[in-house]
Amino acid sequence: MRVLITGAAGFLGSHLADRFLADGHEVVGLDNFLTGRPENIAHLMGHERFSFIRHNISEYTYVPGDLDGVLHFASPASPVDYLELPIQTLKVGSLGTHNALGLALAKRARFLLASTSEVYGDPLVHPQPESYWGNVNPIGPRGCYDEAKRFAEAMTMAYHRAQGVDTRIVRIFNTYGPRMRPGDGRVVSNFIVQALRGEPLSMYGDGSQTRSFCYVADEVEGIYRLFLSQERMPVNIGNPNEFTVRELAELVIELTGSSSVIQSNPLPTDDPKVRRPDITRARAILGWDPTVQLREGLLRTIEYFRTLPGTARLQPPT
Ligand code: UDP
Repeated sequence: MRVLITGAAGFLGSHLADRFLADGHEVVGLDNFLTGRPENIAHLMGHERFSFIRHNISEYTYVPGDLDGVLHFASPASPVDYLELPIQTLKVGSLGTHNALGLALAKRARFLLASTSEVYGDPLVHPQPESYWGNVNPIGPRGCYDEAKRFAEAMTMAYHRAQGVDTRIVRIFNTYGPRMRPGDGRVVSNFIVQALRGEPLSMYGDGSQTRSFCYVADEVEGIYRLFLSQERMPVNIGNPNEFTVRELAELVIELTGSSSVIQSNPLPTDDPKVRRPDITRARAILGWDPTVQLREGLLRTIEYFRTLPGTARLQPPT
């Protein structure tokens, strides 16, 4: 297969490119480096089955040659990023999805949308099954991301129903691992970087809010299987083991051997109180289950952050 991955220089996009290449496929990566980073794909430059187009998918997009798949992963995805880039976030979810779907239609390619657990908003149903319609504030600070992704799902289903495009929708829950940007503002990267620098860990609120963290290799495996499956309705891919943010902070301090303290900060507006995927459908349809649990995944992620300049000050505990 020859597939296009938008957002290929991002955290998930770059791991997904690795996955397709490892199976012998050809990958065309597309990114404008708004939040993606050249470092994430530096190892692919010169690979005979990888090519790269520097471009914003929210603009008209031309890709030469045949395509068997279009995987739309371009978007700011951390709350800090999309609060700074609300217009770009809305555009890539709407115009970018429209362009990517148009490309899939023109090339008769399969299309996969990277959607999100944010479509469930601050959920009133727990854990969240795909059948839950969500509880989203359209005009709050997270609305630019949540509504863009909800629009993207609607657009994807419309192209499927009206134009016959062969579509997939993955709803991605909090994912972490190597290649996250140290400054992207998400809880796992913030806590690890702060712990390695010996700075206080910036816990928002009282830390009782929960998230369910999926290691990137598990997430990518689930997405890859969904792409190859025949499932057209949305599928949650995430790890159902749920932790409070305070538990995460304590675990990061333990695993880094840091002397950092936990500091309470104001809770951001509309911060979801709980989040946990119901992965019954992923298990049944894809035969997929996460295999890397939080402690192990964090150790691997900490190792990655230790290699980065500015986060290497603290050596592993002996
Ligand atoms: N959070 C935190 N400290 C940080 C960053 C985030 O306590 O430095 C909290 C945030 O309020 C949320 C959770 O951690 O409850 C997950 O935040 P993240 O930005 O990783 O993603 P979200 O799941 O909110 O999209």
